[in-house]
Amino acid sequence: MSESTVGESTQSVAGSSAAGARIELLQLTKKYAGQTQSAVEDISMDIAPGEMVMFLGPSGCGKTTTMKMINRIIEPTSGQIRIGGRDILELDPSELRRGIGYVIQQIGLFPHMSIAQNIGLVPQLLGWDKTKIATRVNELLDVVGLEPTTYRSRYPKQLSGGQQQRVGVARALAADPPVMLMDEPFGATDPITRERLQAEFKRLQKSLGKTIVFVTHDFNEAVVLGDRIAVLAERSRIVQFDTPANILAAPANDYVRSFVGSAAAIRSTAMLLVSEALAQVRTAPIPADAGVPTITPDQSVRDAINAMLVSGSTEVNVLNRGGAPIGSLSFEAICSLSASARRA
Ligand code: ADP
Repeated sequence: MSESTVGESTQSVAGSSAAGARIELLQLTKKYAGQTQSAVEDISMDIAPGEMVMFLGPSGCGKTTTMKMINRIIEPTSGQIRIGGRDILELDPSELRRGIGYVIQQIGLFPHMSIAQNIGLVPQLLGWDKTKIATRVNELLDVVGLEPTTYRSRYPKQLSGGQQQRVGVARALAADPPVMLMDEPFGATDPITRERLQAEFKRLQKSLGKTIVFVTHDFNEAVVLGDRIAVLAERSRIVQFDTPANILAAPANDYVRSFVGSAAAIRSTAMLLVSEALAQVRTAPIPADAGVPTITPDQSVRDAINAMLVSGSTEVNVLNRGGAPIGSLSFEAICSLSASARRA
């Protein structure tokens, strides 16, 4: 591997994690060919080693373009990017990319390659020997909670969406890169799997200390995972760049408040007790033999939603302590509660 990549640490031995590297964006601009307006205009940002920064903003505001300039999938029109103090625009793009882990929503596993081959891809490109690659693959499968002997020889289609996404994370970590880019990586999974993956990843990040840029349009995800959140508006304009706690406590303006507000409404609805929800949107009980999941009044609306997701039903029956049906809650009713909380 050449002297000139940011991924020198990819040479590190299996098990010894490379610490994160500082990422600096300096007046970065991207104007796509044929467009009159820039997709990203003059963004500057300093991300500390080991920090996890969330790019949060609505679709089309330039999050992905900004992120993809960091591994040069997209070439900037002007400006500079430094990783670990080095100007990465002077490096060879493919070597640069081997030193940066990349996880995307579409996962991008190769269907004809086993899980072990998928994870070992970059180490193989870097010329690691077979034993070292095999050891590293086993170690990473353990790290992402997939039992190596069960999963290493399987093919992607033999895994669930959540398991495939774990393999995607393992593959991005394979060569122990100091920097990881994650583009809505958990967005395509169901809400329960997504929460589990987020919690697992948060734990993992704490122990790995990578510098991570993570694109999301989900404020809750940004709050759960981020050390800091960059709230972006059109052309990647930074509206607020701060810790989740500070953004929640003091949103910079109405634009930021619109993210915080709707997320707070969803959170507050999810935390309501079923009895409180029933008091607002009571519907008649469903006959016991209808096969819908049941719940008690002292459980939360979140529990009700989880019961629906697990069973595939769009309603739950509410039973009192004696097991008698006293009402029901539909998904639609919960949405209307959340909508009125948002308006409040
Ligand atoms: P986000 O990730 O926030 O959804 P993007 O970075 O994908 O936003 O896009 C920012 C803007 O750039 C959008 O207006 C989008 O239509 C435009 N854009 C993205 N990719 C291209 C492209 N290859 N050519 C022209 N315009 C593009």
